[in-house]
Amino acid sequence: MKKHIITSIFLALCCMANLPGANAQNIPVIPQDPEIEKQIDKILSKMTLTEKVGQMTQLDINLLLPNMQAQMMKLISLSQEDLEALIKEHGLENDYDAADLANKDKLRQNGFKFYQLQQQIQMKKGVEFDPAIMDSVFVKYKVGSILNTPYTTAQNVKQWNHIMKTIQEKSLEAIGIPCLYGIDQIHGSTYIADGTLFPQGVNMAATFNRDLARRTGEVTAYETRAGGIPWSFNPVLDMGRQPAWPRQWEGYGEDPHLASEIGREVILGMQGDDPNHIGRENISACLKHYMGYGVPFNGLDRTPAIINDQDMREKQFAPFLEALRSGALSIMTNSSTINGVNGVANPILLTQWVKEDLGWDGMIVTDWADITSLHERDRIASSYKEAVKMAINAGIDMAMVPSSWQFCIDLKELVEEGQVPVSRIDDAVRRILRLKFRLGLFDTPYTVIEDYPRFGDPAFATLSLEAAQESMVLLKNEEGILPLPKGKKILVAGPNANTMRGLNGGWSYTWQGSGIDRFTEQFNTILEAMQNEFGRENIIYEPGVLYNEQGFWTMEHEPEIEKAVAAAAGADYIMVCIGENSYCETTGNINDLHISQNQANLVKALAATGKPVILILNQGRPRVIAQLVPLAKGIVNVMLPGNYGGDALADLLSGEVNFSGRMSFTYPSGPNGYTTYDYKVCEARSPIDGPYDYFANTHIQWPFGYGLSFTTFAYSNLKTDKTSFTAGDELTFTIDVKNTGKIAGKESVLLYSSDLYASLMPDNRRLRAFDKISLEPGETKTVTLQIPAQDLAFVGQDGKWVLEAGDFKIGIGDQSLMIRCTKTHKWEQPNRP
Ligand code: BGC
Repeated sequence: MKKHIITSIFLALCCMANLPGANAQNIPVIPQDPEIEKQIDKILSKMTLTEKVGQMTQLDINLLLPNMQAQMMKLISLSQEDLEALIKEHGLENDYDAADLANKDKLRQNGFKFYQLQQQIQMKKGVEFDPAIMDSVFVKYKVGSILNTPYTTAQNVKQWNHIMKTIQEKSLEAIGIPCLYGIDQIHGSTYIADGTLFPQGVNMAATFNRDLARRTGEVTAYETRAGGIPWSFNPVLDMGRQPAWPRQWEGYGEDPHLASEIGREVILGMQGDDPNHIGRENISACLKHYMGYGVPFNGLDRTPAIINDQDMREKQFAPFLEALRSGALSIMTNSSTINGVNGVANPILLTQWVKEDLGWDGMIVTDWADITSLHERDRIASSYKEAVKMAINAGIDMAMVPSSWQFCIDLKELVEEGQVPVSRIDDAVRRILRLKFRLGLFDTPYTVIEDYPRFGDPAFATLSLEAAQESMVLLKNEEGILPLPKGKKILVAGPNANTMRGLNGGWSYTWQGSGIDRFTEQFNTILEAMQNEFGRENIIYEPGVLYNEQGFWTMEHEPEIEKAVAAAAGADYIMVCIGENSYCETTGNINDLHISQNQANLVKALAATGKPVILILNQGRPRVIAQLVPLAKGIVNVMLPGNYGGDALADLLSGEVNFSGRMSFTYPSGPNGYTTYDYKVCEARSPIDGPYDYFANTHIQWPFGYGLSFTTFAYSNLKTDKTSFTAGDELTFTIDVKNTGKIAGKESVLLYSSDLYASLMPDNRRLRAFDKISLEPGETKTVTLQIPAQDLAFVGQDGKWVLEAGDFKIGIGDQSLMIRCTKTHKWEQPNRP
């Protein structure tokens, strides 16, 4: 690939001159294809202002469909008899009770049921577009992009082919430019039914397996393109550094290096290796949510974050930088504010950091209604029009409006009034057209499933199972309680035992991941997988606590703990599956990180029976369980492992497969114990001398990188090729890892560095490199890990990268050695090369 050739020549020159300060600035991260640029010039020169602002507009597909609200109102006015007939006509008798729906006293409670019923009726008919609205959107306002899935529910692939053909034909006829369609394929095929769902991001990070990440990206791209859709709003590069934040599970854990590595692989899998020519089995990635979205001060979604300059450049930006250097074609903004500045109105981050500093020529889209929020929610802009002006002038190329064309009207006026320069509009439209060309949409505006015979391939299911197995983390295994022997009786309890919704989490067939049973019949819940693995006759099921599927995600039914306790009498082991029901975004906000009281009571009551308890944690964020940990002999963190999570867990619990997942985030032991593994050194210290015994403790239940196995590994012989170094050096470390147990296992070998003294308080330690290896019993492998010495730099007080002379401790497993930087080096450029 050309990009790599240019970068290699450049790096070679830097190395020759031993000039780490020379930077890759001004060398565009994606070299342009002159042919594409010529075509863009041609189109742009003929476009009217209306056409240009239209291209910059993105609307929700649900706006183009017959009005749901009006249809729902019609349903609500039906008599019980008519409702009964309608439900029967659509074969939905098992899902809806006409008498209940007709009860006018329950209208409020039943609102969502009416919505779902209307949705299901509509979906049975197939997606139909409202012709008048289609004309307004494409003919009058020349809108360039559409997003989302009809009725916010997954459609089958045939239906998607129909949707895409209809939209593209309309767009080409009305504008002469194909539409850019985007959906949230978050952990695989979120919105294309019958496609493959993988474990969520937090799990993928826990695999520490780059190859698995790359392959899941490839499959997601293939299945998305089979539906005709060329763009997915993924990966999520926000790091999970605030455990209460309800979107923790979407990203690749808390660490910048891990998130960069896994994120890059997913992107390369999705886009392929030539960003200028995305193949017909690939799609464009969209990095989100640029940036700092994952650390709201109070843990609540879309609330302010406070991030200092060092953290911003050194940690928050790291995965985005790696992704852009790997060719990522688009970015979605942070919906929230950092230090009072809204993500869509931040020219420094949008224009300077990525477009100027990196010469990146990709496209930036806002998140959902962000421009509206700039005015209505954050009160930074005094009117919607003012907000449009601020966002576009800051560097936004496309607005995810998403439900009105007022944006087109206001932006056109702003240009005519001279408040937004034409040059800015031309730049934005260029970027949008470039993405459409790079995606090949002018040649192939839509696809047909017949050209994608591997859609839903069994090999994809195997990949998903493998990823789920490698992602689950064994946190406790007292007295070797696991694996469980066959032929014993196991009580399976807890609200997460028998739910596909729980295993998948949000962004699974529906936005909230709720109401998905009709999509998941063929998959096994934990209970079903345990029955298959250990024999139906050996599994007793008594949940004790159940989620109330008719209510808000936090709602549970009146607990029946005594029933579960009674059932435990007949069991040898008790497996309690606890955690959370699915949620997504702001809906997932909570004000207490503790596990629900009912679930805690269930675990305590079951433990009181004296039978050995195994806790299964199935949740999107670390709910505090410090009180329950001592009560369990075994604990497994399955997080959100996807459709094959039940099977994967059963394989692991039976010992058929060995655990190899490692924590991708820090699990706190108390609700005030929020910290990350790279905490600042002052956060943990022993008592000082003298009368005042000041000290500091972190409150960590399980640290980042933690995870047990059924075998044991011994580390020895840690060596380096350089004990002293300067900024231009490459450092090589080798270590021997031996499987000292009796069964085969995979081991993630993690290399950490600690800067002993620095002019800004150093982090406790930082992950710098990792590799995952497989070892047979008794086998030893020598693992080589390399890092450029400049990776040990940090962002100093003046906002510049600096590698300071001094000592560094390098640790792998229980081994460590010291190395010394002999000369301080500072980089004048914003990014190290
Ligand atoms: C979410 C994004 C998502 C977008 C489009 C927003 O509410 O924050 O992550 O991509 O909706 O569905």
